[in-house]
Amino acid sequence: MTAEDSTPIRRTGARQVRPATEGWTQKLGTDGRPLLNFASPKRGKPPVHLADLAPADWKAKAEEIGIPAFRLKQVARHYYTRWTSDPAEMTDLPAEGREELVAGLLPPLLTEVRRLETDKGDTIKFLWKLHDGALVESVLMRYPGRITLCVSSQAGCGMNCPFCATGQQGLTRNMSAAEIVDQVVQANRAIARGELGGKKHDDHSEERVSNIVFMGMGEPLANYNRLMRAVRTMVAKTPEGLGMSARGITVSTVGLVPAIKKLTEEDIPVTFALSLHAPDDHLRDELIPVNSRWKVDEALDAARAYFDKTGRRVSIEYALIKDMNDHAWRADLLAAKLNERGHGWVHVNPIPLNPTPGSIWTSSEVPVQLEFVRRLEEAGIPTTIRDTRGKEIDGACGQLVTTEDDEEAAALV
Ligand code: SF4
Repeated sequence: MTAEDSTPIRRTGARQVRPATEGWTQKLGTDGRPLLNFASPKRGKPPVHLADLAPADWKAKAEEIGIPAFRLKQVARHYYTRWTSDPAEMTDLPAEGREELVAGLLPPLLTEVRRLETDKGDTIKFLWKLHDGALVESVLMRYPGRITLCVSSQAGCGMNCPFCATGQQGLTRNMSAAEIVDQVVQANRAIARGELGGKKHDDHSEERVSNIVFMGMGEPLANYNRLMRAVRTMVAKTPEGLGMSARGITVSTVGLVPAIKKLTEEDIPVTFALSLHAPDDHLRDELIPVNSRWKVDEALDAARAYFDKTGRRVSIEYALIKDMNDHAWRADLLAAKLNERGHGWVHVNPIPLNPTPGSIWTSSEVPVQLEFVRRLEEAGIPTTIRDTRGKEIDGACGQLVTTEDDEEAAALV
């Protein structure tokens, strides 16, 4: 008997709202299953950039454009360590042909449309326009001892989660590896210019992005190959990449099980986060439509296998939505399902849902949040309510969505 069968769940009498009862209608595909968009619509590809290339391909690229390989390395050093794409700053390159060389290797990918700041300047949300006009966002946050960037991996998202602002937009397209990496380079550039506030006098940590969370727009594992190219560049030693630690990079997913298995087989021990949001298929089928393909148990088994292979503790993300998924019995069921798979392999992050404009769902009340956490902890599951930094600027998870205002501003740049 599984934990779900044995739990006296639906007899608690607690109020239960569901997406359907709250006016949400699940769009269905021609096969009668919830509509999910795994394939990126065909649009003009962004220009090829140095950050799209594996270092193994650099030699061939240098030959193709007729430069010695060390010149390419020089350009890479400027981009990955000084975070510049400006030929005027690359005085170690011959003046003749420098502009063309740099334009060919580092074509502009992200144009800043606007930025919003909050938390006294130590959180910045960037709105970027891509070469084809698609809009994406990233959020830069300073914490004591670290600087985290929440990056986007797709313009929009095809996973159609009813509570998520990005999901309601649909999938515009996959981002290229370089478009993903360039969010980090641009953030480092802003930090280097002193544009991120909040630096404490006694904080001697390095002034650059130290942690990355793939929790901006998009389902990262639906853009697997480009995601992995970007991650490899992030962890590659300079000047072949950004020289970041894999541990500081969190890849999250709503549960694309075959892709989780692929990630498990990679040799990069990134931190893995599963956005579960419900421990029972009954609710999760509605809350996370991808559950129609891979059920809670399959996703948890894949997460446990990730831990077994990498030794990296898995995070379970759980948005707490009032009367939807925040019941005490669900905390018990979640704990039981996690403990069924062993101890010490997982950490739960409940996240009070951020109210989004026009959303019918709200965050759980504080006593309910605390009871949820208490039950998990009592069952021996390490649990931390996650900081919802950036709430004031719609920069928290599930809130990255472009608005009409953004479109108008983008038209002007
Ligand atoms: S919650 Fe994540 S996977 Fe679901 S629609 Fe939003 S961005 Fe996509």
